[in-house]
Parts: sequence; structure tokens; C-alpha cells
Amino acid sequence: QDVVELVESHVREVEDFPAPGVLFRDITPLIADPVAFASLIEILADRYRGKVDAVAGLESRGFILGAPLAVALGVGMVTVRKAGRLPGPVVGIDYDLEYGSARMELQPFTVKDGDRVLVIDDVLATGGTADAAFQLIEAAGGVADTLCVLLELVDLGGRGRLHDRTVDSVLTY
Ligand code: IMP
Repeated sequence: QDVVELVESHVREVEDFPAPGVLFRDITPLIADPVAFASLIEILADRYRGKVDAVAGLESRGFILGAPLAVALGVGMVTVRKAGRLPGPVVGIDYDLEYGSARMELQPFTVKDGDRVLVIDDVLATGGTADAAFQLIEAAGGVADTLCVLLELVDLGGRGRLHDRTVDSVLTY
């Protein structure tokens, strides 16, 4: 509980970013604080130790959280990236955003058949990004049923979009 409060006290709220009317949750103070960052990784490592075979981070803040967690768990790190960033071969999926669409890609050789892959990102909003990641990991032969996020924006309904998956959030707003 102390760690959750410590983490919460290092998340900034920024109005009108990246567009007018949007309240952006900024985790940069958290990762800039060595004690808060290390404490977060420690509680996550305790939660998932022995339960996963790889950690998949979503570009780009999912990489920051995912990489130290993967090392702490003694498993590999998989990157799910925006279109065009990874050299092939890749599998990709297009998904809808509130306005427009986006595409995420994964190198399937980074996921071993049957690996239990934990998906991690900073924020769960509508769930579109995480849903795409789950589909890519499964297309690559992995087993992905859990999303770990630092912040869940409950009103945006991401948990519903991910219906049969488990969502573990450290903080909810
Ligand atoms: P979703 O696909 O709508 O769930 O959006 C999730 C993606 O948008 C994540 O990769 C987040 O990093 C990013 N995102 C959405 N809202 C915020 C926010 O308030 N702060 C930081 N990132 C956000």
C-alpha cells in the first residue's frame, strides 16, 4: 500500500495535452525517482515471478516499465512497436483509435511457441493498443492473457474491450 501511494505521488496530471480537453497522466516523475521506480518494479516482480516466460512492452513507455521487470523476472523482453520501426519479418495489426487508426507490429521470432507473455504499458485508456498486442502475441504463437498497467483510466472502458483478459492496474482513475 505504501508503494502504491509512493507511485501515485509521482504521477503528474497535465491539462490540455497532447490536445485541448485531454487530461494527460505523466509518469516521467515516477521513472525519474530511483526509489519510486525501483519500488514499483519490485512489487510487479513479486506479483509475476514464476508466472510468465516473457514480458511484452508497448511502445514506448511500456518499454521503460517492461525492460527492468523482465530483468527482475529473469525472462526476455519483447517489443510491440508502432508501424515501420521493426525490421522484418513482422506481423502487424491495424486498430481503431478514437479519431483515426493506428498499427502495431511484432517480430514473431521474438515469441516462442507457448510462451506465457505478460503485456505491460503505462496507461490503459480505450484498450485498443493492448487488444492489438494480445492479438499479435497470439498470432506469433504466444499465450497472452494478462495486461499490467500502471494507470487504468476506468471511464474509457478498456477493461470491457479486453473482455476475457485479466487487467492488473496499480492505480485507477
Ligand atoms: P488505448 O489504446 O486507448 O488504451 O491507449 C493507450 C495508449 O495511449 C498507451 O500506449 C498509453 O501510453 C497512451 N495514453 C493514453 N492516455 C494516456 C495518458 O493520459 N498518459 C499517458 N499515456 C496515455
